[in-house]
Amino acid sequence: MPTTPIPTQPGATDDAWLADLNAAQRDAALAGLGAPDGGAPLLIIAGAGTGKTNTLAHRVAALIASGARPESILLLTFSRRAADEMKRRALRLLARAASGDTRLAGLELPWSGTFHAIGARLVREFAQAIGLDPGFSILDREDAADLMNLARHDAGLANRRKRFPQKGTCLSIYSAVVNTGDPLDQVLQASFPWCREWADELRALFLAYVEAKQAQAVLDYDDLLLYWARMAEHPAIAGELSARYAHVLVDEYQDTNRLQSDILRAIKPDGRGLTVVGDDAQSIYAFRGATVRNILDFPEQFDGSRQVTLEQNYRSSPQILAASNAVIALSGEGFDKTLWSARPDGAAPALVSVRDDADQAGYIVDRTLARRESGMRLKSQAVLFRAAHHSARLEIELTRRNVPFVKFGGLRFLEAAHVKDLLATLRWAHNPRDRVAGFRAIQLLAGIGPKTAATILDSLAAAPPGSELLAEQPVPGHCREAWSHFVERLAAVAEPGAPWPAAFERLADWYAGQIERLYDDAAMRDADIRQLAHLAATYPDATHFLTELALDPPEASSGEAGVPLRDEDYLVLSTIHSAKGQEWRAVTVLNVVDGCIPSDLATGDAAEIDEERRLLYVAMTRAREELDLMLPKRFYVTHQSGLGDRHVYASRTRFIPNAIRHHFRDASWPPPPPPLQGSAVSRQTAIDLAASMRAMWK
Ligand code: ATP
Ligand code: MG
Repeated sequence: MPTTPIPTQPGATDDAWLADLNAAQRDAALAGLGAPDGGAPLLIIAGAGTGKTNTLAHRVAALIASGARPESILLLTFSRRAADEMKRRALRLLARAASGDTRLAGLELPWSGTFHAIGARLVREFAQAIGLDPGFSILDREDAADLMNLARHDAGLANRRKRFPQKGTCLSIYSAVVNTGDPLDQVLQASFPWCREWADELRALFLAYVEAKQAQAVLDYDDLLLYWARMAEHPAIAGELSARYAHVLVDEYQDTNRLQSDILRAIKPDGRGLTVVGDDAQSIYAFRGATVRNILDFPEQFDGSRQVTLEQNYRSSPQILAASNAVIALSGEGFDKTLWSARPDGAAPALVSVRDDADQAGYIVDRTLARRESGMRLKSQAVLFRAAHHSARLEIELTRRNVPFVKFGGLRFLEAAHVKDLLATLRWAHNPRDRVAGFRAIQLLAGIGPKTAATILDSLAAAPPGSELLAEQPVPGHCREAWSHFVERLAAVAEPGAPWPAAFERLADWYAGQIERLYDDAAMRDADIRQLAHLAATYPDATHFLTELALDPPEASSGEAGVPLRDEDYLVLSTIHSAKGQEWRAVTVLNVVDGCIPSDLATGDAAEIDEERRLLYVAMTRAREELDLMLPKRFYVTHQSGLGDRHVYASRTRFIPNAIRHHFRDASWPPPPPPLQGSAVSRQTAIDLAASMRAMWK
């Protein structure tokens, strides 16, 4: 990593690599570049597809080209994918900007990533200073819910006569309080009114949960932000971070929460050197505590800030842009943005009526293959949906017709039970205090159930740290041999300096030996375990491996969707939430009907409805040339709330009322069949079978 500035070529900032930008983009990319402190706080607020992310990448390149050290740049993005993409773009631009400079080879942007990933690194780095075990492990949401459940049981809340909220609800409430910074009562009142009567019990439960996490040296996702924010309140740490990161740049700022803006303010109190980019019309994470106020209040929060707006949309055809604008214009509030597109004309977005889920899948496969036939790669096409399970029927159809696809945002690789088993075992090996991991790992052995597991964990918790008690645990006699075998593998992988990934591979071998007993479809799961071992080899050690996987898991297990080779062509299936910031030549949105968009789980209040409208806007603005909105007349709903599965009849989403219908064209599938030639019975023959069917029952 070079620590010396890259010399700016004379006139580099006027060079060809910036010529692609329009005047406003260039202004934003170069603002305050000469200032050693990064210049005035900068807000780039603009609609979808106006090149915000692209401008940010140019700004990173311009900063480095004008002398900023890459390690002084903190670049915060929404997903690891987005961080990788931004890094790639910035470095490519830089290569153009300083062509021929050999010191550019191998240049890295070491501090680019998601808030959570960077938080994990910083909290580990400062762990000792803040009284945290640097070997802490990270709980994903499911593990956190399990730990919450343990606390719930311990507090005797699980078997009340009146039903206490479920573990998932408790975690959501806890998370909302942490991320919004609002008091518990207010959060309950606003978002969980049916839990208001439990306020006192919940407060006690959350304290128990926090104590359990501390006793076990585990952090949940929210802690990665919370610890970062709280430690940055201390002047010594704030000073160090502030000096380290001369430049802080944030993409998708509309989806950040209070904690995230607290973090930014702690590092950059006067906002100098801070650049944020976003679009209030695309804020879709309020349900996780994000607040659009962060972006709207930026000018008030930071004195002397500059605001740049971008108006030219480079992504979508004028027809797609007009329809998307019409949808968002019906929303109650927000900045008015006048977007225009100079891209070639295309067809109006289609409202495609189909009978049901099966026809929806049939249509999409047909269209996808037809587009591929005419030269549009599968990778340039995407199917987006509100909820991950909406694509189930389509996945079956794609598999049946041999169309490779990758699914983003659904059941993830790491959520598959067998993958979790092995990772929990590795986590427990490294942090024997981690109770959720231990509970899972211990029970992988034949003949050991929850009771024995709990006894073992209790006796470990009571033991002084570092003692070698594992081998002597009270396991039933017939398990002794298996137990010592297990303990030996655990010790081998946890040993400081254990060979990586070899020690993990041995653990994986051990686990592979258990799969057949634990699960039915062993062969498929075994393939996932091999895949995991393969993945492990791409990380330097167990800590990096566990941290990265907990934060940004690979997308799909073999049980869910094929994971094609990198260079193979595949169709993209994604939840709308996971499609943020991306674009495809052709986009199809599933189930654009009331009950799906807006989701029937979200029709609570006006704010929730507006968030659903913005979701549709985000989905539509991913499309460059072609956009199909699917309208199945009937669809199948799976209710988590115990109402059972059923077919429902659907109508077009309320977000496309007749008043804006003219922006769309109608289509249907299957196409009406041609009249039968030479048949005595023409299709038009009016035989009223329906009436005769009814007559049977009269
Ligand atoms: P979103 O709101 O969806 O995050 P965005 O504002 O970040 O969108 P980008 O993803 O940066 O927009 O850019 C959208 C598309 O426009 C990309 O394909 C990008 O390469 C292209 N683009 C951006 N600026 C220009 C430009 N000045 N000239 C040509 N193409 C551009
Ligand atoms: Mg973007």
